[in-house]
Amino acid sequence: MPQTKKEKKQRFQTVRKGMGIVLSILFLTIAWMLPVYAEGEQLSIEFLDVGQGNAVLLESQGHYVLIDGGDRETSSFVVSYLQDKGIDTFDYVVASHYDSDHLAGLIGVLHQFGVNQLLTPDYVSDTQLYQSFCETASEYDVGQIHPFQEEIYNFGTATMEILGPVYYGHSDENEDSICIRIKNGETSFLICGDIGEETETELVHTGVNLKADVYLLNHHGSNTSNTQEFLDAVQPSYAVISCGKENSYGHPGSDTMARLSALEIPVYRTDIQGTIRVESDGVNLIWEQDPCNDFTPGTAEENNLSENTDESVQTEYVLNINSMKFHFPSCSAAQRINAENRQDYTGDRETLIAQGYSPCGICNP
Ligand SMILES: [Zn+2]
Ligand SMILES: [Zn+2]
Repeated sequence: MPQTKKEKKQRFQTVRKGMGIVLSILFLTIAWMLPVYAEGEQLSIEFLDVGQGNAVLLESQGHYVLIDGGDRETSSFVVSYLQDKGIDTFDYVVASHYDSDHLAGLIGVLHQFGVNQLLTPDYVSDTQLYQSFCETASEYDVGQIHPFQEEIYNFGTATMEILGPVYYGHSDENEDSICIRIKNGETSFLICGDIGEETETELVHTGVNLKADVYLLNHHGSNTSNTQEFLDAVQPSYAVISCGKENSYGHPGSDTMARLSALEIPVYRTDIQGTIRVESDGVNLIWEQDPCNDFTPGTAEENNLSENTDESVQTEYVLNINSMKFHFPSCSAAQRINAENRQDYTGDRETLIAQGYSPCGICNP
């Protein structure tokens, strides 16, 4: 039966009335939720599983910060992880120091994302990786600030307070790592790169507030860091260790693990649990998983291997900085590159790929 005009109108009015109620409920719900969201403190922290290295992603109310980017081997993982989050621009990207297990992944990040500000330690490194990091930063006009003790940087509802280093210019570059205490409401997090006993002692003695609910162990849990005195100053409720499975450094160290165990501090480990996520609402910490509380130290003997040791193969390539292809110097296509687009490069192909270059299809470098 076809509806009459009147029936149609009545039906329309009923639908409109129903819609009106739904809309007002929706409006009231949103109005009720909005101020809570706008005023509520929110911070999520993810300790990415980058094997032997550090990479920590922080997000507060849509503002993103990245502290370190892991080593070369995981740089494409880091980039795609961040892309999956839908990140466009970082408020801050921090290089705690210039060792490759912290720095290498940041080059890919500079190529793929907007970065408003780089925070870097005030020393120069003689590695090719460092040079290529600085070149990439200036290519995208990203400025570097060397932060100093007591400076504060804000993002969303969270703040980053720079605790150290107390000064730049230690003989061991690890000791110049930027040390950050992140605060969101009443919750706090401590991330200090690879500082060792020297800077730990200096921090304790300058009297800065090191207390933190969550402490990312210095230098991947090494025995040369994480002194009893430092742990007593931090008084962490939770410890997070970022290190590689069966790494050659013996991280985390046996002394460190014995100290954590004696203090009965719950432990999270990326080598055992993968990426670790925690959320702060300003008061509570909501962990995605339970701590593993595995206090087993790394197996290798703590040795004198420097993390700086560059074991990757150094090869000569020719780059086309316009087409972003790389070639062997002998390649016929390499001979035809315009002088203004051509650049000679010595290094390893992973670094080039992390920078966004792809191998030439003719010479297959
Ligand atoms: Zn490291
Ligand atoms: Zn280091």
